[in-house]
Amino acid sequence: MNHVVLTGDRPTGPLHLGHYFGTLANRVALQDVHPMYVLIADYQVITDRDRPGEIQRNITGLLLDYLAIGLDPAKVTIFQHSAVPELNQLLLPFLSLVSVAELGRNPTVKDEIAHSKQQAVNGLMFTYPVHQAADILFCKGTLVPVGKDQLPHLELTRLVARRFNERYGPVFPLPEAMMGARPLLNGLDGGKMSKSRGNAITLSATEDETAALIRKARTDSERLVTFDETRRPEVANLLTLAALCLGRTPQDLADEIGHGGAATLKRVVTEAVNEFLRPIRRRRSEIGEAEARAVLAAGNERARERAVLTLDEVRGAMAMTAA
Ligand code: ATP
Ligand code: MG
Repeated sequence: MNHVVLTGDRPTGPLHLGHYFGTLANRVALQDVHPMYVLIADYQVITDRDRPGEIQRNITGLLLDYLAIGLDPAKVTIFQHSAVPELNQLLLPFLSLVSVAELGRNPTVKDEIAHSKQQAVNGLMFTYPVHQAADILFCKGTLVPVGKDQLPHLELTRLVARRFNERYGPVFPLPEAMMGARPLLNGLDGGKMSKSRGNAITLSATEDETAALIRKARTDSERLVTFDETRRPEVANLLTLAALCLGRTPQDLADEIGHGGAATLKRVVTEAVNEFLRPIRRRRSEIGEAEARAVLAAGNERARERAVLTLDEVRGAMAMTAA
């Protein structure tokens, strides 16, 4: 099947291992097979905070992370929301296809509201999943490599595409999600590893910073290390992290550590993570910021050309333009 791949990240901070095993590894594999768009979702930053914060620094950081993991700008179009007005315009007809009740039921939005830094929930928080439908459909995306938190949004995108096609004629494909090796990696506090929740091992941290973070991770007092996700979630999470980095199973690692206790476990995890990230970190340090920014400028132009075509088609289907 000929896919078009679309996926992206909010420029809210550096990428972490949750991203890597949830979506980044799939992106690197897919770029050789299908056309791919990677979105830096800058308008989505202000869903759960009042100001965009250090957005330029975060955008440059994302670009460096992308290039360091091996995304190839010759194959992948990397772009940002705010540079592609025609994509954003799709939000208007799409919003009319979804009920307010449907927006209020989204479980990921509910979770993000619970972790939001804001006093009151803003309108963009409720509507950004529809904006995400515009992200995916502007390029007629069919395959979306994402983590588990995105599944409700993808369902909504399919709903928007289906309703648009029923109402105005066949324009959009119904895209599918693609899950990574670990669709939901937990952070060092036991909750979802997130850029905004201070619980992440980032791709760009130093080896010492990584060691310090893992040293502080919660464990329990049982000396024998076992892999038990329900009874010992913190220990299981650390085993999972190391196992993903080593390409082994968490059970196997637990058997090897045996009676070594939390200290041995943390040493094994630290070594596994730092070794896994070493080549990525080395490449990252070799890429210039100007080079990374040029990749974004070129990608913005390509994405805009694509968006103009889709918006024309949408306006035509809706009879907004004279035939
Ligand atoms: P923020 O906390 O600022 O929302 P985030 O860590 O949730 O940051 P996003 O930019 O919202 O990152 O998500 C980018 C992509 O990474 C999405 O496809 C999302 O599903 C995936 N992803 C994010 N966190 C994880 C995780 N812990 N495990 C697996 N996939 C994840
Ligand atoms: Mg998020």
